[in-house]
Amino acid sequence: MSKRDYYEVLGVERSADQKEIKKAYRRLAQKYHPDRNPDDETAAEKFREVSDAYEVLSDSEKRSAYDQFGHAGVDGQAGGFGGGGFGGGGAGGFSDIFGDVFGDIFGGGGGGRRNPNAPQRGSDLRYNLEIDLEDAVAGTTVDIRVPRLAECGQCHGDGAEPGSNKSACSTCNGIGQVRMQQGFFAVQQTCPTCHGRGEVIETPCRKCHGEGRVKETRTLSVKIPAGVDTGDRIRLNGEGEGGLNGGPAGDLYVQVAIKSHEIFERDGRDLHCDVPINFVDATLGGELEVPTLDGRVKLKIPPETQTGKLFRLRGKGVKSVRGGPPGDLICKVVTETPVNLNEDQKDLLRRFQESLDGTGTKHSPRKSGFFEGVRKFFDDMRS
Ligand SMILES: [Zn+2]
Ligand SMILES: [Zn+2]
Repeated sequence: MSKRDYYEVLGVERSADQKEIKKAYRRLAQKYHPDRNPDDETAAEKFREVSDAYEVLSDSEKRSAYDQFGHAGVDGQAGGFGGGGFGGGGAGGFSDIFGDVFGDIFGGGGGGRRNPNAPQRGSDLRYNLEIDLEDAVAGTTVDIRVPRLAECGQCHGDGAEPGSNKSACSTCNGIGQVRMQQGFFAVQQTCPTCHGRGEVIETPCRKCHGEGRVKETRTLSVKIPAGVDTGDRIRLNGEGEGGLNGGPAGDLYVQVAIKSHEIFERDGRDLHCDVPINFVDATLGGELEVPTLDGRVKLKIPPETQTGKLFRLRGKGVKSVRGGPPGDLICKVVTETPVNLNEDQKDLLRRFQESLDGTGTKHSPRKSGFFEGVRKFFDDMRS
């Protein structure tokens, strides 16, 4: 297998200074880092390649040997302290580079890997809750059943049967990492046997089978504050998934959505509703009963009210959960055409219409304007 030129691997000029080399390495190593590309052999190969290149180009002695003799220059050097392999200093050198470059990204030291024994916060959970408009407006308390992974009560998240032993992992000798020899350089990887913990449980906890967490479904009482709206969420501290290794539990977010209502449509603090009205009341004016969230109220309709007219009832809307005065109830009057008329009634209407036609007065405020518009529209098309 022929090796690529190290400068080409890092994408830098032959004249690049240490800063440029480090910067290029940092970018590429981050890109191909095994933690970010699990089970990706190509990325792993690239990662080794850029690490090899940086190992040589960041060391002025090795770099000048490489500049003079190419790969033969540094490979020959490798032979110089080969034999002993990477048991000691070599690997140390590798993780030093790593710690040096990644120190500030991964929190420093240890080759930049997260300690699997460290306490880990549990995940946050989301619960989608649908409630009625009335409940959202007045506020309520809802019982919800939340399935989650909780810390095992038997082993307290440890995974080991209480009183049983843990022994050092024999694959990694308790270190949690194994070194993969790849030619001259070694790459550290998380131990596949103990997953980095360094120890293996001899008798897994019987309750959680060694997982440290168990599935449970809890019933929680959630207080819904008055005024919540679709999209609001309520946080319940520590009611999310249990933590690991004694870490805190995550939070539970209750995501509120309001069910659609038969009568009202909500728009923030305002409520909208349609109010049907017969054409006689609309014509002569009258009093309508309209629904509000706290009972019926009377709404005066003036004579000659046209369909679609909006009436605003101040303060009959919703109080926001964030405070402030309540919004309004906006009623839209919808005039209904009568149905199921008998012959007498139809006759009355015909005579009524004739009486209108005879007066020479304008009785339909939109109709004449509309037909005027239609005529103009067709005239414009013709010309
Ligand atoms: Zn357990
Ligand atoms: Zn191990």
